[in-house]
Amino acid sequence: MRVRSLGVAVLLVVVVWVSNGVVANGQSSALVKVTPLGSHAGELCRNDRALLFEDPTGVRILYDPGRTVDETDGRLGDVHVMLLSHAHTDHIGDTRANIGGGTCAAPAAGAANANTNFASIAAAKNAAVLAPGELSGYLSRKIQNIRGAAPAACPEGGLDNIFDVPLAAPCTASLRPGGSRTVRRGGSGSAGVRIAAVQAIHSNGVPAALVDTPGEAPGLSGYGGSEAGFVIAFTNGLVAYLTGDTGMFGDMETIISRYYHPNLVVLNMSDTVTLGPNEAIFMMKTLVRPRSVMPSHVNEQATSGGTIRGGTRVDLFQLFVRDYVDVVVPVSDVTRSFDGSGRCVGCR
Ligand SMILES: [Zn+2]
Ligand SMILES: [Zn+2]
Repeated sequence: MRVRSLGVAVLLVVVVWVSNGVVANGQSSALVKVTPLGSHAGELCRNDRALLFEDPTGVRILYDPGRTVDETDGRLGDVHVMLLSHAHTDHIGDTRANIGGGTCAAPAAGAANANTNFASIAAAKNAAVLAPGELSGYLSRKIQNIRGAAPAACPEGGLDNIFDVPLAAPCTASLRPGGSRTVRRGGSGSAGVRIAAVQAIHSNGVPAALVDTPGEAPGLSGYGGSEAGFVIAFTNGLVAYLTGDTGMFGDMETIISRYYHPNLVVLNMSDTVTLGPNEAIFMMKTLVRPRSVMPSHVNEQATSGGTIRGGTRVDLFQLFVRDYVDVVVPVSDVTRSFDGSGRCVGCR
């Protein structure tokens, strides 16, 4: 009898907990959709970086399109906000997408795009461009090259630096560590998605081939200021930490983990210029302890038939962290759904 009473009580609590789609801690039970836009459908391949996030309110955010998506890509749909971690070619996109071209291990490049895939998408989609360092002015010029007019500065209302989407024309703005902006779809009174910039340790040279005249001296790249990562707080409670290209730093534990509390990490993990798999393992075990991690930017053919290949960096990584964190492999064109706790719903 006592057990049955307890069962009824638990049931009542659950009913109250999820009523109106809002859980007891104020978080929504709605899901955030994350769609990788890579070079080969169903696989995680060498060049894959681009992720498209969709908040339950409909705000759509494209992160680092790179070489696998451009403005002609039918996978994009609406894009309200674009985030660029830094200006390197594999993130800003110096060559157009060539979907399915070449192999997953060695994707074939499309035609050169001197205005960058990033700016081409922003110009076509009327997106709000948020970029660290000195990149917002650079990207503004690229968008002007395409549209014939310079984009406006993105609005920033109130104490939360709010702006509403969709926009009627692209805009650009800086977002540097410590700063944040909130994007809202649904107007006054509706919940917003808060996007903050955080430190990354890497570099941020603008490739000389993408610098307009008079150009750079041979061997030099343009000054792009500082690189960054991002923390996106979605309206359902999901907090995604996008590392950008970076090495380890102690403030992953202090500022990023203790202040922002990410429950999903998109971890740029590769070889000689970002976190290697052993460093990434330490990061997951010690510095940031999310519910889920998406290994990205892996610079290898990580999967075959959508399954992790043995002997790859991603395989090494997942073998050592899977007891601590759910490893969600971002295979191209497969939309994943995350709840407010960082759990990938339907992934297992
Ligand atoms: Zn880089
Ligand atoms: Zn990179």
